[in-house]
Amino acid sequence: MPSVRKTADGGIVIQAVALERLVAAIFQAAGCEPAEARQVAHYMMDGNLTGHDSHGVIRTGRYVSWIGSRLFPGRRLSVVSETDTLAIVDGHNGFGQIIGEQATRIGIAKARQHGVAVVALRNSGHMGRIGTWAEMAAAENVVFIAFVNVRASLLVAPFEGIERRMSTAPVAIGLPVAGREPIILDFATAAVAEGKALVTLQGGKPLPPDVLIGPDGRRSNDPELLYGQVAPGAVANPMTGPGALRALGEHKGSGLAFVTELLAGALTGGGCAGPLPRTYANNMLAIFLDVAAFDSSEGFAEEIRNYIAFFTSSKPERPGGQVLVPGDPERAARKDRLANGVPMAAAAWEDILLTATKVGIDRAQIDRILGDT
Ligand code: NAD
Repeated sequence: MPSVRKTADGGIVIQAVALERLVAAIFQAAGCEPAEARQVAHYMMDGNLTGHDSHGVIRTGRYVSWIGSRLFPGRRLSVVSETDTLAIVDGHNGFGQIIGEQATRIGIAKARQHGVAVVALRNSGHMGRIGTWAEMAAAENVVFIAFVNVRASLLVAPFEGIERRMSTAPVAIGLPVAGREPIILDFATAAVAEGKALVTLQGGKPLPPDVLIGPDGRRSNDPELLYGQVAPGAVANPMTGPGALRALGEHKGSGLAFVTELLAGALTGGGCAGPLPRTYANNMLAIFLDVAAFDSSEGFAEEIRNYIAFFTSSKPERPGGQVLVPGDPERAARKDRLANGVPMAAAAWEDILLTATKVGIDRAQIDRILGDT
């Protein structure tokens, strides 16, 4: 069976393993060691498999273009200072798919030993979908609460503002639940994550109304407000458009974004989104709570399971609708995409093929990597 098939709308559907192989080959050709390239590709694919194409392989071209300026293959996290329950760590602009895993493992290990732990991470490469790290902690029976910002990524206007003052500053909270899949709440504090606008720009799903604001104060869903006009073959840059993303949830979401900037940017020592000039990085303040230190019986899980049953039993707003728990949509997407392949808009796929060519992988090699020949 071919690993790539065309769809009626001009896009493709590709088998996840084949896509992951190609992306790993691209990063290897771009300067990563094979194991590092495989890990980067693996966690990028986690974005696609969970339905967050915005935080998946669509970023391949962008990451490759950042190598040597914002991203450095081979770099690992170092500990700036630590106590039993706190680690202040520096990612030195290594790949976020490497640094994020390292930081999360430190937090899990400390929490398992001491009940609670905080990791303050500065200077990581882009860490992709933050829920990935929440899932990793949940698999070890550890609650994860993270505030993340993106230094030098001014994309979001504050409530009642027009000009960009914040990054998309995601918040992620994971709770393990014995006998059930974990609860994973994970979202950008912008009305939509930047990558969702990139997906739209590249021919994917349209954005919801009013998630952007223009320089004239008019609300819109046109991604060009974020990127400006992008020349064919150029890497779309969200810093160059004339408008801004709006913060989620009016004053409350804007307030949450603001304090996320402060916790992730100021308390970690990594720096807030602006003012510019600053260099690009993800910073993360993550809190780890070992459930076993709080609850030696099954009380926590039982209370959550009961509450989920009560919560989801709310009568649906729309006929055929269903109340879901955070984390459920991502699990459903993973099941579907592992079984049926990953859909991708034509422009996003072309961008990956072009990036492969730029790092020296020709079409025949691509076909071999995909397993089509
Ligand atoms: P989103 O708007 O899709 O919301 C996702 C969250 O909402 C998930 O927890 C999901 O389970 C939950 N959810 C979705 N539909 C639901 C429903 N019907 N019922 C109950 N819960 C539901 O997410 P987003 O804001 O577009 O963010 C996408 C990704 O972008 C996240 O993984 C985030 O971590 C990532 N991100 C990363 C960075 C970075 O700098 N690394 C920056 C911004 C965003």
